[in-house]
Amino acid sequence: MADNQPVIEIRNLHKRYGDLEVLKGVDITAPRGHVISLIGSSGSGKSTLLRCANLLEDSQQGDILFEGEPVKWKGQGLARRPADAKQIMRIRTNLSMVFQQFNLWSHMTILENVMECPVTVLGRDKAEVEQKARMYLDKVGIGDKCDAWPAQLSGGQQQRAAIARALCMEPKALLFDEPTSALDPELEQEVVRVIKALAEEGRTMIIVTHDMKMAYDVSDHVVFLHQGLIEEQGTPDQVFKAPKSERLQQFLSHTT
Ligand code: ADP
Ligand code: MG
Repeated sequence: MADNQPVIEIRNLHKRYGDLEVLKGVDITAPRGHVISLIGSSGSGKSTLLRCANLLEDSQQGDILFEGEPVKWKGQGLARRPADAKQIMRIRTNLSMVFQQFNLWSHMTILENVMECPVTVLGRDKAEVEQKARMYLDKVGIGDKCDAWPAQLSGGQQQRAAIARALCMEPKALLFDEPTSALDPELEQEVVRVIKALAEEGRTMIIVTHDMKMAYDVSDHVVFLHQGLIEEQGTPDQVFKAPKSERLQQFLSHTT
């Protein structure tokens, strides 16, 4: 695999729910070490795009490539499904998602939450995973919370635990779906700091966010989605300082 091979490449992706066409031909590339932010109004298809990228959702047309390897499909249109179980597994485990609502397992301690998938899904050695899990929890600043239950943590701490859990899979890219939207402003910053640190260490990330300041600070490339199509994209300076499309100008005027 070439070094400059993008981790994820999405070409002309179409996705519909029944009669509703949610993605109408979207192209997105996440080169290794780059941070791509996805912005746009509620309902524009941002979450759907992330979920299609790691095959949590089916799509009807277009290609998804993971490290240059195209997803193999069977069937067509609404019947199209990924065909190769090993490939699905490889893609899902290498594109770790972090959700708005954290989605920690409430009956497991924080350490157990972080260890669960590497042990049960990847079959990694438990002692080694535990060491890594503690290291990632330290990295996100909650190394002292290993034995706590999720409900005992603040929202910002729970989200940092969810990020540690995603990191412990040692994925090729992280996909964030509005990681700070459920948090109070002061807790939001704890999570933004962690995301910035990950960007600085060269992680490949796609971040759906309403936080335009974070998007400006961390992104290499910003994509503005409008009604299932890319309306405009570019560097943070191009998108935030010199937006061309009227829709993007309007969108940005409604955010701080
Ligand atoms: P965003 O994340 O940008 O707010 P979404 O990707 O969640 O947008 O949704 C895009 C559109 O798809 C919306 O109109 C939404 O109502 C619709 N949608 C999302 N998920 C489903 C689903 N499971 N079934 C039917 N419609 C859905
Ligand atoms: Mg969404």
